[in-house]
Amino acid sequence: MRRKLVVGNWKMNGDLVRNRALLEEIARQAPDEVDCAVCVPFPYLAQTQTLLSGSCVDFGAQDLGEFAEGAYTGEVSAAMLGDFGCRYVIVGHSERRSMFGEGDALVGRKALSAVRGGLIPIVCVGESLDEREAGQTERVLSRQLDAVAKAVDAEMLSRLVIAYEPVWAIGTGRAASPSQVQGVLSFIRGWLAQRTSAAGDVRILYGGSVKPESAGALFALPDSDGGLIGAASLVAAQFLGICEAAQIASRDNVRQFEGLK
Ligand code: PEP
Repeated sequence: MRRKLVVGNWKMNGDLVRNRALLEEIARQAPDEVDCAVCVPFPYLAQTQTLLSGSCVDFGAQDLGEFAEGAYTGEVSAAMLGDFGCRYVIVGHSERRSMFGEGDALVGRKALSAVRGGLIPIVCVGESLDEREAGQTERVLSRQLDAVAKAVDAEMLSRLVIAYEPVWAIGTGRAASPSQVQGVLSFIRGWLAQRTSAAGDVRILYGGSVKPESAGALFALPDSDGGLIGAASLVAAQFLGICEAAQIASRDNVRQFEGLK
């Protein structure tokens, strides 16, 4: 059975003082029946590594360079992230795609670089509102996912985490409805099944304005394995509330599984 995963994406927020309070509280209270992680800005990786040490909370970065080493000013490699104990790295977040010109092919190469460097890439995909309204959601997702499949082999594909993040739901306070989310997650599961026999093991997250109140219904969906959380991950009580919702959904899954045996 897939373990639920809740990942906080801090984006470009935080400072040493606020981070300490947030990390200490999360480290103290995060549930251990699900996987919880925070993806922090690069300069705070060392602080995060220290403060989360000995806790059940993992951490990672929000981006990485596509190259392993060399004259690439400003870039950060997978190996460097590994040096600081990162487990995860977000790639292809819609803010990087739209504001920093990251195209599908580059996102694929970054996913490859992460896997080669021993990290778990959390590959973000999602459609804009115009694309959804034009009925193009599956076409857009296929294009984004195909570019990743072109860069990594089937075995690597099974090691990714995919995050479905509709652009119109990110930071808007307007989460997608559970039925919209399940429709897309099941489409992604089907896409995976055509490419790897391990499709049933790949974790697929939903991200976009998830709050503690909405998390339970989203995490209970058949193809949902947790969430990628932006704004709510900056408030300890909210992030922990979402992790708690994942734990409840996980226990329900176990009960259903046991009932089927
Ligand atoms: C995100 O940016 O990955 C995200 C999900 O943001 P928010 O939860 O704030 O919508």
